[in-house]
This record gives sequence, structure tokens and C-alpha cells, in this order.
Amino acid sequence: MISLHHLYKTYPVNGQAYTALNDVSLDIAQGEIFGIIGRSGAGKSTLLRTLNLLERPDSGQVLIADQDVTALDAAGLRGLRQQIGMVFQHFNLLSHRTVAGNIRFPLELAGQLSPVEMDARVDELLELVGLSQQQAQYPSQLSGGQKQRVGIARALANHPKLLLCDEATSALDPQTTQSILALLRDINSRLGLTIVLITHEMAVVRAICDRVAVIDHGRIVEHGPVAEVFLHPSHEATRNMVAEDGHAAALDHAGRLYANIGQLLRLTFVDDATYEPVLSEVGRELDLPIRILQGSVGRIKDRPYGQLIVGIDGELPAVRAALEARGVRCEEVAA
Ligand code: ADP
Repeated sequence: MISLHHLYKTYPVNGQAYTALNDVSLDIAQGEIFGIIGRSGAGKSTLLRTLNLLERPDSGQVLIADQDVTALDAAGLRGLRQQIGMVFQHFNLLSHRTVAGNIRFPLELAGQLSPVEMDARVDELLELVGLSQQQAQYPSQLSGGQKQRVGIARALANHPKLLLCDEATSALDPQTTQSILALLRDINSRLGLTIVLITHEMAVVRAICDRVAVIDHGRIVEHGPVAEVFLHPSHEATRNMVAEDGHAAALDHAGRLYANIGQLLRLTFVDDATYEPVLSEVGRELDLPIRILQGSVGRIKDRPYGQLIVGIDGELPAVRAALEARGVRCEEVAA
């Protein structure tokens, strides 16, 4: 649905061209929740903002539903932006308008509905985000989570096909973050809306994203299904982010501490394999002890996973074969 082809973007900084996007190509499918992660200054916002041309790339194409939006004229661009909702970290609400007034604002700008139709649409959106009771309140009377619900309702007002989220939960406490993520998931599945989000919170990606791309110094350094990228990060930038998050990839480092007790294997279980007594079966079958040295278990979106570092004293190929036959991915960890 969205195809980015060879995007470049430079900014003039101190008289020099600073490259914020360096040959970025990506495909994002209709109906998926796609995360973009990277350290501060990596180019996440610039990339997100090229999707609705708030930033215009210096070169390259942005195809949305097969249309090159970089070629649109002013009227075409206005139409495009109505098809793309955006949610911001600091909500960007109009302080002198009520909740209902804020949600109504983009409908007024679009100018396609009568006042009565606008009221009905606002009611629908209030219901969708659970704010019917607060419709007459002003932003200053709302909690952060409620403000973001207004932001989301406003972004959805004109039935967009695509929702862009710029650190949408970064200003919220963990509990409120969970409720906003649940709302985004719900909207994604109920409306079939494509969501592209940028975040520095790995937990957000694990909770709701289908796929993720990692940007570093303006380049996409890896991308793929979240379970693949987070459990088997191939680039250092990804490993650092996932490790800081205290999850799977940190295990490699921990494993080294135990290097003197046999060979090390990193095992990854996903989906059904997570629930099977695989290790005890294999240990019994081959009659050897398998030591669990480090591990994490959890969920990536709806997929359960476990990742363990184990120490093996016996024949590694036989252990690997027995584990792989049971659907466990095995990688040797260098001591
Ligand atoms: P991120 O969202 O990953 O923190 P950004 O996309 O905001 O990164 O920025 C990428 C790089 O481009 C940063 O080094 C930033 O300083 C620079 N940059 C972004 N916007 C501008 C701008 N309008 N003018 C000059 N430099 C910019």
C-alpha cells in the first residue's frame, strides 16, 4: 500500500548538507501496524513526515496506493492529508476548543459534511475513543491519556486510510500507555486502518507492531516481522536498543559469563513450541544435562516466545538436531 523508493533528504546545518534520510526504501502493507525505531536523531521523524509530505524528500518516490504523492499539486496534497491522520506526542490540541470542538475541527476544514452530519460524526468518534462524557470539557481539564484520545479521534475524523503516530505514548505513564495502545490495536483491527508509528519505546513495538524497521544515521539497517528482528537482531543499532530494553538480545552477553561450562546454544521458541516440555524431552532422549543459564519469556504482539541460553556438555550436533526437530531455533553462541 505504501512504497518508499530511494528517499534522500538533507538539511542545511552550519552551511553544510546534513543527510537525514539516506537511500530509504520500504514497503508497508495495507492494514498492518508498522513501527520505525532508532536512536534520537536517527531520522525517524523525518521519515514519518515524508509520508504525508510534511517533509518533502530531496529525491525518491513516496507511493501511496500506487500514486506518487511527491508529484501532487496543492489541491492533491490537501486531499492526501485528509486521507492520512496524524497523532502527536504532545497532542497538539486547540486549548480554546472543547473536546467535541477539537474533533470537529478537521471536519470543518474538509468542508464536506453539513453541521448535522458533523455532529453525528463527532458523536461516533467520541464513542469510539470512550470520551462521550467529556465532550464539553476543555483540554486543560483532561488527563494525558484523555488528551491523546482526543488526538486520535481528531486524526480519524475524515476516515483516513493511514494513521501516523509520532511518539504517541511517550508523554504518558505506563498504565495510560497500555490503554492507548489497546485503543490503537482496536482501531487497527476494527477499521482495517494502516498504522505507522515511530517510538523510542521497544515495549510499544512488542505490544502492537506487526513489522518494524530500524533506522540508523538515516539508513534502514534492518526490517522485518517484530519477532524476527527483536529475537535475532542483525545490526548493532538494533542489538543496543533491544538490549537496553532488557530483553532477548542481551542474553548473548550474559551467556559469555558461563563460557567455561560447555558449549552455549541460544534457543528461540515461538508460538506452540513455547508451551512444550522440549528441553526435558531432549535431555532425557540423549541422556545429558541441559543447563539453562539465562532466559526471557514474553509476548510479541500475540505471539508467545521464549529465548534461552543453555549450556550443553554433550554432542552438540545431536542436541541441535533433536531441538530443531521440535521446532526450536538454535544458534551457537561464541564463548
Ligand atoms: P529522530 O526523529 O530519529 O530523532 P529526526 O528525523 O528528527 O530524528 O532528525 C534526523 C536528523 O536531522 C537530526 O540530526 C536532526 O538534527 C536533523 N534535522 C531534523 N530536522 C531538521 C531541520 N528542520 N533542520 C535541520 N536539521 C534537521
